[in-house]
Amino acid sequence: MSFFNSIGRTMTRSQRGPKRSPTPTSATYSPTTEMPPSPVLPSPRTPPTIPKPLYLSHPFVDAALVKGNFKTIVMLPKYVDIMEWVAMNIFDFYTNLNEFYGVITECCTQQTCPTMSAGPTLSYTWINQDRKQVHLPAPTYIDYVMTWIQNLLNDEGTFLRNQRMLMVWLYLGHDFPQAFPSTVKHIYRQLLRVFAHIYHAHFHQILHLRSEPHFNSLFAHFLSFGREYELLEIKDVKGTSAAPVGVGQLWEAWREMGILEG
Ligand SMILES: [Zn+2]
Repeated sequence: MSFFNSIGRTMTRSQRGPKRSPTPTSATYSPTTEMPPSPVLPSPRTPPTIPKPLYLSHPFVDAALVKGNFKTIVMLPKYVDIMEWVAMNIFDFYTNLNEFYGVITECCTQQTCPTMSAGPTLSYTWINQDRKQVHLPAPTYIDYVMTWIQNLLNDEGTFLRNQRMLMVWLYLGHDFPQAFPSTVKHIYRQLLRVFAHIYHAHFHQILHLRSEPHFNSLFAHFLSFGREYELLEIKDVKGTSAAPVGVGQLWEAWREMGILEG
């Protein structure tokens, strides 16, 4: 079975509805929805203390299946077309992340996660069909993202998912579809948000499953690959000073440890 033919068979959450028309989106600063009430502050001038997230604490911060730097893993193998390499890796990141989310999905509900949070003051918004930014519960947002990506992966005009077709296509001198790089960047940005939400809201469940080495390695690989092929913007990883992305600090920590490069 070819790599791309496996689409659909490995999906653990494949019962998705019909094609939606999502056009994701941008981050917004939403202090009212994210800041917890703070009635017992010792002084009005003292900022609330936000405890260090578990994913930044030892020993979890450097738990990994893969030790060392990811540079060699993400390098383009000899004789492989770069677009094909990117497409294969995107498929892999999507599949793995989808499986992780499938395991914790019962913990990510409209009640536990009423917004797509990714930091103490950050919730991502979705652009709906009327081009308005709306807050969605995280499970709805993630379902929209994963459905949108799955539809793209299944769309042969975007991703040439059949390996034999791909070889014929390239042999005939065609390139990947012109929109491919921008589509891939868009996908990457949305996958980053799903990672960011899981780290922010569900890392304790990842710990409970003892999956933090696996999840950290997947995310470090994702970050490293994204930087190597310029699929990731630093501003998307870090957020803004008013609404930082929680995993932005993880990115910094891993750079200091030499796990990631600049
Ligand atoms: Zn959640």
